[in-house]
Amino acid sequence: MPSSLPAVQIEQLRRNAKRLARQENIPLHESQDRLAQSEGYKNWSLLAKGADQAPARARPPAPSTRRYYLHGDQYEPDPARYYCAECDVFFGPEHFDEAHRVDHGERALKATERFEKSPDDFASRVHRPKDAPTILAAAIAAAKAAREAREAARSPFHRWLDKQKDREDPVGDLANDILHGKHFPTGTASLPAVRRYLTDHLASREALGGS
Ligand SMILES: [Zn+2]
Repeated sequence: MPSSLPAVQIEQLRRNAKRLARQENIPLHESQDRLAQSEGYKNWSLLAKGADQAPARARPPAPSTRRYYLHGDQYEPDPARYYCAECDVFFGPEHFDEAHRVDHGERALKATERFEKSPDDFASRVHRPKDAPTILAAAIAAAKAAREAREAARSPFHRWLDKQKDREDPVGDLANDILHGKHFPTGTASLPAVRRYLTDHLASREALGGS
């Protein structure tokens, strides 16, 4: 039988089921059953009651660790669905045509990099195949290319700022403001353009050298 789910996970599934019902315009009991089945239970009420009552035959081959999904990853129990990390729901492919708060490719790229660097204790509790199927392969490649292009176009000044960001002084503050600001002219070598940016976006007398 499926291993007993912790209450917090059941609560998360309950929320996911509500969202899924809304998104798919299906009755709540149907979305609940669907999620319960993906966890190896026959239906939602068996899942909610806990593992003791769940029939043994409903159990999927249980991996020792939980499958971890990144933005865009294909859902193992239902290959027609993919994980949207921003909505925290598995959706059909068309969902990823909708613009989200963060660009899909960039989110997926960053999530993959973070996951690959994740600490051992986390990696021992979850698993994700090395080349997990994702709907965002092209978007990730585009995000990577865009990042490389941005990197190649950076001015020496912008690269220098990167080395100042840990300083505990106004120069460090300035470096962080600029590096985290979206609109800084990263490719420019022109002092007037940099000054214009600083005046418009920071207007900090201290950072501008008290001028
Ligand atoms: Zn979404």
